[in-house]
Amino acid sequence: MSKKPKQHPTALHEKEGVSDSEITNTSAINSIKSKRQSQPTTDDLVNAILKGDITALSRAITLVESTNPQHLQKANAIIKQCLPHANKSVRIGITGVPGVGKSTFIEAFGTHLTHLGKKVAVLAVDPSSSLTKGSILGDKTRMEDLVKDKNAFIRPSASGTSLGGVARKTRESIILCEAAGFDTIIIETVGVGQSETAVHSMVDFFLLLQLAGAGDELQGIKRGIIEMADAIAINKADGDNLKKAKLAKVEFNRALHMYPAKDSGWQPKVMLCSALNEDGISEIWELIETYISEAKNNTFFEQKRNEQNKFWLLQTIDDRLKSDFYNASEIKKELSNQLALIESGKTTPFAAAEYLLKLND
Ligand code: GDP
Repeated sequence: MSKKPKQHPTALHEKEGVSDSEITNTSAINSIKSKRQSQPTTDDLVNAILKGDITALSRAITLVESTNPQHLQKANAIIKQCLPHANKSVRIGITGVPGVGKSTFIEAFGTHLTHLGKKVAVLAVDPSSSLTKGSILGDKTRMEDLVKDKNAFIRPSASGTSLGGVARKTRESIILCEAAGFDTIIIETVGVGQSETAVHSMVDFFLLLQLAGAGDELQGIKRGIIEMADAIAINKADGDNLKKAKLAKVEFNRALHMYPAKDSGWQPKVMLCSALNEDGISEIWELIETYISEAKNNTFFEQKRNEQNKFWLLQTIDDRLKSDFYNASEIKKELSNQLALIESGKTTPFAAAEYLLKLND
């Protein structure tokens, strides 16, 4: 007589997606158990995060990044519980054009910090990643040593087309990393778009990586980004490039003095470094430490974080209102009608906007 599988495991295996052959041996039971264990509760995740469990931290960040409303609900509950344990880190933003050496720098800088006994988390803001199908931290091999370092946590950038959405996910991930005991958070961003503004508004210190170029050192660099920088590090100051880098340092120093003084009273500094040779890395960290201690002494540190929180409150409302508006089914339908009417010259942009906004009232 052929043995029928017992009712209990069969029901489970259907539910948990375990194959028929698997169910015939004990490993199937273990497999079911482990799959079950892979659905921890909010409390399980929070407790594990607070103990510094990286797997739990990754899972919570995945929930933050999810578009599933149930996941978001869970993410919000986790963040709420983690919040009292957050806020205790130094947050550093690092930007620079592709090729300037950001990942090489973060590898050297992060490793320097873990050797000093710090716990370093690296996150990224890269709003273009879903368009380009790549992310700036997607290729983890870019930071080979740091990835293997038990005191470092590297998270590829959240995907999403809206900068606001990506930035929100990063901000929430910062909270989770801090709750997990990371005392230094590095946020990387590409130096080509608006993402610097978003990153600047979530970090304590903003570092711009630059290259020494021939001729006009400021060519191609957005004024706004220089204005945001607390320090400029001229990377690849090695080999034949060292002389040029030293000249660039003089140029940047001169340029920085032309900008208005910062609210913090801090005069931005220009440094030289070679991420590849790990030169100048410890000096940059010392500079950041000096900045942080000065900003804490004159209360600017707290003040800036408060300002940032207010900014993010307003930003979150803006994002939410926009996404609610554009996702309303009636708006979706009518928007294309109104666009067609504009194209055929039958309405004006203002009349169409008025009409659509009233529809949503
Ligand atoms: P990213 O695109 O800004 O992240 O830049 P990468 O870190 O990927 O670096 C781009 C290239 O520049 C790589 O080939 C690196 O090896 C090289 N590179 C980075 N830092 C230095 C440096 O300090 N000196 C030299 N000579 N090359 C560097």
